[in-house]
Amino acid sequence: MCGIAAFATTKKNTSCLGTIISLLIELQHRGQEASGIATVAKDGTAHTYVSKGTIFDLLGMSSLLETMTVDAFGVIGHTRYSTSGGYGDSEAQPIVVGNDSSFRIAVAFNGTIANYKQIAKELGIKNCRSDVTVLSEAIRKLALESGKDVVEALKTLSSIVIGGYSAVVLTSEPRLVIARDPRGFRPLSYAYNGEEFVAASETSALEVLGYDDWVEVPAGGIISYDGKSVEVVTAPGECPTPCAFEYVYIARLDSVFNGVSVYGVRLGLGYELSKRDSAEVDVVVPVPDSGRAAALGYSRGRGVPLEEGLVVNRYLGRGFIMPPGMREIIAKLKYGFVRSAVSEKRVALVDDSIVRGTTMAAIASRLKHIGAREVHVRISSPPFRYPCFMGVDVASRKELLAWRTMNLGDVACMLNADSVAFNNVETLAKVIGLPSACLACFTGRYPFKGLTVDDLENMFSR
Ligand code: SF4
Repeated sequence: MCGIAAFATTKKNTSCLGTIISLLIELQHRGQEASGIATVAKDGTAHTYVSKGTIFDLLGMSSLLETMTVDAFGVIGHTRYSTSGGYGDSEAQPIVVGNDSSFRIAVAFNGTIANYKQIAKELGIKNCRSDVTVLSEAIRKLALESGKDVVEALKTLSSIVIGGYSAVVLTSEPRLVIARDPRGFRPLSYAYNGEEFVAASETSALEVLGYDDWVEVPAGGIISYDGKSVEVVTAPGECPTPCAFEYVYIARLDSVFNGVSVYGVRLGLGYELSKRDSAEVDVVVPVPDSGRAAALGYSRGRGVPLEEGLVVNRYLGRGFIMPPGMREIIAKLKYGFVRSAVSEKRVALVDDSIVRGTTMAAIASRLKHIGAREVHVRISSPPFRYPCFMGVDVASRKELLAWRTMNLGDVACMLNADSVAFNNVETLAKVIGLPSACLACFTGRYPFKGLTVDDLENMFSR
């Protein structure tokens, strides 16, 4: 669940750097561990800058400012949340491959390539320390085999990858190519106005910068811009199965994914949750920020007032996308509590999901400590029970609270709550409203023919 962005232009005196930095700031919620950009000048020379931390840490690099003066054809950028390789900046993207200056490529991607070791073996790639290194080397190798054609390379790649990816590729030709895997797990959109080509993981990033006429890259879509025109091709298809968890948690509320509003889905899930609930509660308290829209839907559905009982520390980022060891610390520091909003009240505490349960248990305990009479945890998604191999870092089943037990009484006990309720898988699929979506982390049924969770776990190991 990293964020990726790209920008290329033929306009004179346009700051490629300013645009990419702005896009990455709008995508920061998708990853905070490392940031990076790669530029290619009109003469084909490439520069890469990566830094541990957020895009603001990257901005602190003095050498980055020097590139403001480079006459760039294009730039790609990345905000990292690790799903493979180490935590920190050792696998920061973009990655540049190719010593030969006549054909060098920079790659940034959002996703996970579950069979990257197998691909490395089949293509004879020696550097297989992580899925992004294999993906980058594979794109270059396959492109060289087809006359330096990155579009052909991505078409071939789409038929051999098990996993999910959205990718941006900048070549020294120069050329900018963006692509989404054939099942379309991860989002990617772009806009082209005749002079500027711009792409980002989420539509909200494009809209904030004024690119309102964005188009979502279709599942299997490969879009190429060479400074003169845009070429659109689609790799031979699979049934699209976009990630349901993007709607539940990952994507920004103001984004659209596969033509469906993220806000609409979250509101609808809260409303659905309220329809089957008879617990007596006095107030609805959202877990900010990602639980807010669901709490609003739940509050409206139950006719119970919404209260801001939790105050989030915005400087700590998202707990879910923190490396192990940091999550417990973040769970403690992240929230302040509004005593007057919850004291002596029976609280419906609404969040989007429970993955490990670390944060929710800490919140429920604290609410009771400051005087809440009862805490009823309401979760707008189904129990998250299986790992993801398509771009979300839950590598082991043992980490998942709902894998350890599906008994709601036990879950409530583990969360220090009086009761707990979830939406079911059918409701989630119904509210999203697409013909198909990936629900594998809730069902254990992965959209790769014949592959079970055990097969995928064996295939992909850190
Ligand atoms: S397994 Fe879950 S998180 Fe992963 S792509 Fe499918 S729905 Fe999304």
